[in-house]
Amino acid sequence: MARYTDSVCKLCRREKQKLFLKGQKCYTDKCPVEQRNYPPGQHGVSRRAKVSEYGIQLREKQKIKRSYGLLETQFRNYFEKANKLKGITGDNLVKFLESRLDNVVYRLGFASSRKQARQLIRHRHITVNEKLVDIPSFILDAGDIIKIKDKSKKLDLIHNSLKRVKDNTYSWLSIDKASLSGTFLQVPERVDVPLNANEQLVVELYSK
Ligand code: SF4
Repeated sequence: MARYTDSVCKLCRREKQKLFLKGQKCYTDKCPVEQRNYPPGQHGVSRRAKVSEYGIQLREKQKIKRSYGLLETQFRNYFEKANKLKGITGDNLVKFLESRLDNVVYRLGFASSRKQARQLIRHRHITVNEKLVDIPSFILDAGDIIKIKDKSKKLDLIHNSLKRVKDNTYSWLSIDKASLSGTFLQVPERVDVPLNANEQLVVELYSK
């Protein structure tokens, strides 16, 4: 499968906003977006060309896709599924992305980035409703209980990551730091999700 291997910080600088791809560094003043908030490359500072409607839609799609760490095909598949459901397609898309296990492990604070969450899941440290799940794209249902496996509870990266998380930051999740478990209480409403992007532009892009 194709993978992005260049510096992920360049992706944030390209979108001119923090996408939180790097883990702990994203929460410090070493974050390059804090220091140089303009696109990377020779023409990063001086790039002033008028951006087309297509260009704006494309950037918005890239921003969301990269935030959740997805490849184009995976992202497009979520859009197709979202488009078939009742309701607002953009809202449905965000709800799918937020219901992924890797995203919830990250939001619960067990990992400092979605990438790290995917590693935890693939390395079989996570259970859902007491069953081991090693698929990062696993879609959670309301009421599902996510836990760190007993044998993995001493992992430093989990405890270091949890330090940045306050209890009950997200209304649709409940976290129990003492037992390293959390509950996906419900699929969040779009207005509650801290995603600084306009998913409606993605709908317009893919609807052409
Ligand atoms: Fe790098 Fe994180 Fe800052 Fe993005 S938010 S530029 S990934 S440190």
